[in-house]
Amino acid sequence: MTISEAPRLVGDERIDVVPISYPDPGAGQLLLRVRANALCGSDRGAWAHGADVVPGHELAGEVVAAGPETRTSVGTRGVVYLMVFCGRCRNCRRGMTNLCLDKQGDVGFNRDGGLGPFVLVEERVFFAVDDDVPFALATMLLDVMGTSGHALDRAERLLPDVGSIHVVGAGPVGLGTLVMARIRYGDDVPIAVSDVSPERLGLAASLGATVAVAPHEVGSLEPVDLAVDSSGRTEARAAALAGLRKPGVLVCVGHGQELHLDVSRDLIATERAVIGSEYFPYGDLERNLELLRDHRDAVARVITHTFDVAELAGAFTTFLGGGSGKVVVTQDGVAR
Ligand SMILES: [Zn+2]
Ligand SMILES: [Zn+2]
Repeated sequence: MTISEAPRLVGDERIDVVPISYPDPGAGQLLLRVRANALCGSDRGAWAHGADVVPGHELAGEVVAAGPETRTSVGTRGVVYLMVFCGRCRNCRRGMTNLCLDKQGDVGFNRDGGLGPFVLVEERVFFAVDDDVPFALATMLLDVMGTSGHALDRAERLLPDVGSIHVVGAGPVGLGTLVMARIRYGDDVPIAVSDVSPERLGLAASLGATVAVAPHEVGSLEPVDLAVDSSGRTEARAAALAGLRKPGVLVCVGHGQELHLDVSRDLIATERAVIGSEYFPYGDLERNLELLRDHRDAVARVITHTFDVAELAGAFTTFLGGGSGKVVVTQDGVAR
């Protein structure tokens, strides 16, 4: 057992540092020393209301102990897939680990996560990353590249020749969608981005958005083949749907509010589709690692701030202020 101090969010934007005991890894488990963890919009609840476990689900680290029946050696670097999928159910066998029917937990939500010094995980949710990829950059394989890449995959099943895109919301997943779409479709495909934050619109423009507009200007955009909503807002989704060509696809990635459909107008007469996309299959990590290696600089620009874990409060304030890109919390000053 390893006892180490970890930040506990107790609500009202307060952090207590408390000793946490990390058990030795059991069969099939790895103990990781966390080196970097990116903050996510879904950490907002823990910051405001507290959490029973140490939050953090976009983490990279290195293996410091490996339990029996594992093949990963101590010292291996890698990232952790949020969902502790079973690996055996029908969906896992189909590669849909993001829809596991017998999920054992979610790292950082009901198991101690990446804002602490260590994380104990099942080997099957660990994904090894080469030593030349810095830890902070490696965290981009998760929500930023993974979630947005899967959203594009989902859309392509219905619309293989995407010619224009509207990214709704320029938070980390929206910016990730912008970057992944640029990588995938090249410079000639117009990509519009809309968001309430002028800072984030500026960031979107610097990351390759063709046009970056406030929500009230969305009606003036050219119609697009594909809209990806990461805002989770009813109005934004409705506007995105209304701005689709026929046919067109709206992929909802951001959890949040409702969307009301006039089925005849919105779906039948226009042959549009509204689909959801949840996290991403574990198997996508392989492809996304290759993309990360080939487009390292473009992906790295999604990270706008890096804080040592000692400055965790500042990291949260900066990130939840809504004007940043991805904020990464590092440990031991290792942001390599
Ligand atoms: Zn996240
Ligand atoms: Zn499963």
